[in-house]
Amino acid sequence: MATRTLSGIIIQPGLMIGKARKIAPQNWIISRVKIGKKEVKAELESLQTAIATAEHELQQQLQNFTGDDDDKEILSSHLMILNDPELISTIRQQITAGLVSAAASVQRAFETVLDHFSGLDDLFFAQRAADFRDVQNRLLGELTGSRAASLDGWEPDQIAVLEEAGPSLVSSFGRHEVKAYCSEQGSFTSHASILTRSLKITAVSGLSGLYASVRDGDVLILDGIEGRLIIAPDHATLKLYEQRVQKYRQQCEQALSEAGLPAQTQDGRRIKLRLNLDLLPELEELNRLKADGVGLYRTEFLYLGKDALPGEEHQFETYRQIARLAAPHSVTIRTFDLGGDKLSHLIPSPHEENPYLGNRGIRFSLAHEEVFRVQVRAVLRASAFGRLKLMFPMVSDLRDFLRARRIVQSCQEELAREGLPYDDNIPLGVMIEVPSAALCADDFAQNCDFLSIGTNDLVQYTLAADRNNSELSPYYLTHHPSVLRLLRITLAAGQKHGKPVSVCGEMASQSEYLPLLVGLGFSDLSVGPSAWLGCKSIIRRCDARLSELVQNADLDSFGEIENLIHDLLKPYYSL
Ligand code: PEP
Ligand code: MG
Repeated sequence: MATRTLSGIIIQPGLMIGKARKIAPQNWIISRVKIGKKEVKAELESLQTAIATAEHELQQQLQNFTGDDDDKEILSSHLMILNDPELISTIRQQITAGLVSAAASVQRAFETVLDHFSGLDDLFFAQRAADFRDVQNRLLGELTGSRAASLDGWEPDQIAVLEEAGPSLVSSFGRHEVKAYCSEQGSFTSHASILTRSLKITAVSGLSGLYASVRDGDVLILDGIEGRLIIAPDHATLKLYEQRVQKYRQQCEQALSEAGLPAQTQDGRRIKLRLNLDLLPELEELNRLKADGVGLYRTEFLYLGKDALPGEEHQFETYRQIARLAAPHSVTIRTFDLGGDKLSHLIPSPHEENPYLGNRGIRFSLAHEEVFRVQVRAVLRASAFGRLKLMFPMVSDLRDFLRARRIVQSCQEELAREGLPYDDNIPLGVMIEVPSAALCADDFAQNCDFLSIGTNDLVQYTLAADRNNSELSPYYLTHHPSVLRLLRITLAAGQKHGKPVSVCGEMASQSEYLPLLVGLGFSDLSVGPSAWLGCKSIIRRCDARLSELVQNADLDSFGEIENLIHDLLKPYYSL
């Protein structure tokens, strides 16, 4: 096979040489629906084989199972679904009487059940729906010949090849120790990409034509330094990259050895450099990097890709562990930001035409108060064991914050009645990620304990440019004058009322924007673990001249901002 090179965008830097393993997209495209009478027998046989194979796989997984009993029960319930006589007879009937292919019949029969579940606003049924979806994927994987998103038997030298990564799939990559993936579609600030960085999975996206160009087992070089994928490299290229992998490892070790130096500018401004964490295992990074605490803990990843909603005890233990490990530093726990591209199948929700403009973040939590209260109680209980702060995402105006605060107060009263300890003064803050919130920053600064700017969303909502759509990158401009104006309004409101304002969006971790933020006067930043060391090096190069440059520039003029970034700030970010 001839060598091919595709170029894309780097989601998480790294270098890996490995073998391709294609992961079929979850929304199955069934190419053959109608069958002739003569094909009925063969289709029934295919169905039977698919069921038998799925059953065999499940039996084996059960035998080798080492996890807890709850997870074991889930596997057993999948076996029961596979053997559900009513379901199987519906599928068989569609094949024989309806002359519909086995794959299409399976899809239809399961979709009917899943539609039924999605109309029920009950957590138990939502979990059942997840089980049915899983079994459906197993069967369709067998019947269409493409591997379902099951990662069983993952080998360490494999590289996942995808059309597009979603947050739940990336979560499961973490559990299966997938080290690298490449995808046809994707953007830098999508939640799947953020999670990818948290898990330190090397990834390159936006590789046009990828899925059709690669076969299972092809040798791949995933170059997350230059942003490309080399398919079936020749011997010389392979040798060259083997050396590069070696060198890259040494460079990473070198950066780590500088971890102990403070995040301080040349003119003595100490910048608080915290960590954005999405997953519990990342906590190790906190001590390894000596960060100033956790500026953003995205709790929704406790929900995504799981088979059951985490209860109060499980969440309490998680938050308590974080609070203890981060001590004496603080941890800002963000209540779950579900909706948008992070839809949990565990909480059924009606279909939305525009999920990003829909029931997302705090709106979702206020609409599912029973789930929200479980989380708030767990955070409050954990607040007795360290320094926790509670932050609400996607607030539009002060009313959202006041409603959320009332629920927190009611949970505090409940805990007091139960005699359970909690921090009475837990700081409550909001994320500024919707333009209306930035424009109302003064209200928030008067009523909240802190503000944190989520530039990933603030940019998308200010410029009406989807953060996940790579085609829109010419419109998704982090340094747009309108965005900078909202940043300044928010910072000024915080300074006026003596409330801290941090930046926790990806803007803080991008080398071309970080000096701009430092120059604007931000001294509280939070970035993902993989960017943390690089950010600190940049901060350590910034000096007083930088603030002067930024303060004197016309930040309402697009041209001047671009010149500032490209020419004047270059010495600060060219590492
Ligand atoms: C943001 O929007 O900048 C942010 C930090 O939140 P998330 O990326 O989780 O939406
Ligand atoms: Mg956000």
